[in-house]
Amino acid sequence: MPIYRAPVDDYRFLFNEVFDIAALGDLPGFAELSPELVDDILNGAGKLCEEVLQPLNQSGDEEGCHFENGAVRTPKGFQAGYKAYCEGGWNGLGAPESAGGAGLPHILVLAVSEMAMSANQSLAMYPMLTQGAYGALLETGAPWMKEHIAAKMVSGEWAGTMCLTEPGCGTDLRLMKTRAVEQPDGTYRMNGTKIFISGGDQDLTDNIIHMVIAKIPDADGAIHDDLSTVNFFMVPKFLVGEDGKTGARNGVVTGGIEHKMGIKGQATCVLNFDDAIAWRLGPKPEAPKPGEKRSASAGMAGMFGMMNQARLGVGIQGIAIGEVAWQNGYKYAHERRVGHALTGPKEPDKPADLEIVHPDVKKMLLQARSFVEGARALVVFTGLNLSIEHSARPEAANAALLADLMTPVLKAFGTDMGFEAANLGMQCFGGHGYIRDNGVEQFVRDGRINMVYEGANGVQAMDLVGRKLGRKGGAAPMALFGLLTGWIAENEKDEAMKPFVAGVKRGTETLQAATLWLAANGPKNPNDAGAGATEYLRLMGITMLAYMWGRMAKASLGKDDPLHKDKLMCARFWMERMVPECPMLLEKMQAGSATIMELE
Ligand SMILES: Cc1cc2nc3c(=O)[nH]c(=O)nc-3n(C[C@H](O)[C@H](O)[C@H](O)COP(=O)(O)OP(=O)(O)OC[C@H]3O[C@@H](n4cnc5c(N)ncnc54)[C@H](O)[C@@H]3O)c2cc1C
Repeated sequence: MPIYRAPVDDYRFLFNEVFDIAALGDLPGFAELSPELVDDILNGAGKLCEEVLQPLNQSGDEEGCHFENGAVRTPKGFQAGYKAYCEGGWNGLGAPESAGGAGLPHILVLAVSEMAMSANQSLAMYPMLTQGAYGALLETGAPWMKEHIAAKMVSGEWAGTMCLTEPGCGTDLRLMKTRAVEQPDGTYRMNGTKIFISGGDQDLTDNIIHMVIAKIPDADGAIHDDLSTVNFFMVPKFLVGEDGKTGARNGVVTGGIEHKMGIKGQATCVLNFDDAIAWRLGPKPEAPKPGEKRSASAGMAGMFGMMNQARLGVGIQGIAIGEVAWQNGYKYAHERRVGHALTGPKEPDKPADLEIVHPDVKKMLLQARSFVEGARALVVFTGLNLSIEHSARPEAANAALLADLMTPVLKAFGTDMGFEAANLGMQCFGGHGYIRDNGVEQFVRDGRINMVYEGANGVQAMDLVGRKLGRKGGAAPMALFGLLTGWIAENEKDEAMKPFVAGVKRGTETLQAATLWLAANGPKNPNDAGAGATEYLRLMGITMLAYMWGRMAKASLGKDDPLHKDKLMCARFWMERMVPECPMLLEKMQAGSATIMELE
């Protein structure tokens, strides 16, 4: 059976030694963060994940979800696991205290989320989606929704979903067909089909609050293939009155569940909205003047907030699957005997040495580990920027730009590399990794969806290149380059930091050249930008992790214990073995799109 040990010490290292959160008392929620409280949270979450959620992972995968008599049943043990998670207060960790949550900063919520995803992605997704849904409801819902509905979602008594995808559209939501028509009482009647809805139905909670996007037709009943009439709605499975009383079943019917490659304990549902009663969220858009199109609802901001939170959450899923995979590969490589060390047998009295003696095996494990720990640091960096964004600090605007820029990078680079790490962990098991009983092929199957949902990774790259780089006159890349060059200048005179500064510098200079190349060529030929977007995103991911490893190396120099020595080893590995990809990625981008576009 696979193992999992929560990376509590690593989070302590990041919080205390790299990012020094004790000095951030001016940020929202940080003043109350005593070292004891942080330790209690990390240890408590780690224990729950190791002892309750992880033991249900393999059995949940074997059994999968059931669809019986129009309802979903989750695998054995999931109800108890979910209950333990909610009773521990983990579902409301980041929710405001006014809504019954603990009001803790992003960095802790993200840390707990990573541990839960490593332990059991299928099970952890039910609360993750609920957290996104109640966040949107708290942002855009009416007071009675916040009081009676969001509070129950914060406690975990009720769950939430995010309903965007339809049979005819996933990426291209302009094409959605689901429609909502206003009623005299101000509610809407919704009709249409949403597919692939995670947690769309389950037996863990008494009610499910669906957060749905749909189009409001024109007076003549027409809907348009654009986003102008898209609005954001709340559609409960069981109706809820403004007094909080639960009523009859709403017209949301579970059409079935998908049979999938992975995350089998997670119910991926078809939901049919048959005259379902829906509440539009956010201020009412102005009625269109004759001949004018309706404008999108202001409540859509809530949906974008939910999607951004989910993109970060999925990036963390990638990191989480990489963590548990390398842990298992590492353990196996210390048990399996195969061949001899190239420099002569390490244990001459044994028929063979341990697998870990082979450079290629060490390299696989180091690639997975240095990605996971570097990306974890980038998540903390991004979580801190989200907190700074909402503070009175002068750098709040820059922090917002950096968090926004890192969202597609963490989503796509985090899940591409997390999948690579899962593959490497499995490779350490040889043929035994391919056998289900050993449980590591599940990481590869579960980790594969992370590259697709919440916006396919190619679409994340287009978001980075097509939207994020150029917005506000290129303010985001300028903020990023200011940060990176500032760090290089600050550290380049330090002899001990030389190899790390050189790596960050190489990545930064290549990323600057790639950004200039895009600025010069993208406007002339958008296909050049499209053909190089994935390479650009990977280049930014490698460079950002180089920066993170530079900062972690600085915090580790001169400390002669296993944790800090390992940090320096991983930092050197990243600079020596991953940063050299940067010029190669730039060269690929510079090849342009002509050959690629020849393919009919
Ligand atoms: C297990 C699972 C759970 C899911 N959970 C949810 C959920 O809870 N809620 C929800 O609403 N949806 C959910 N989804 C849907 C998921 O978000 C979509 O499948 C995903 O966004 C891709 O949409 P699509 O499948 O329609 O692919 P398409 O939009 O048809 O795209 C196909 C491929 O074309 C490429 N592509 C498309 N557009 C572009 C572009 N502009 N630039 C570059 N490449 C492009 C990409 O490589 C993409 O993978 C889930 C899906 C799965 C499988």
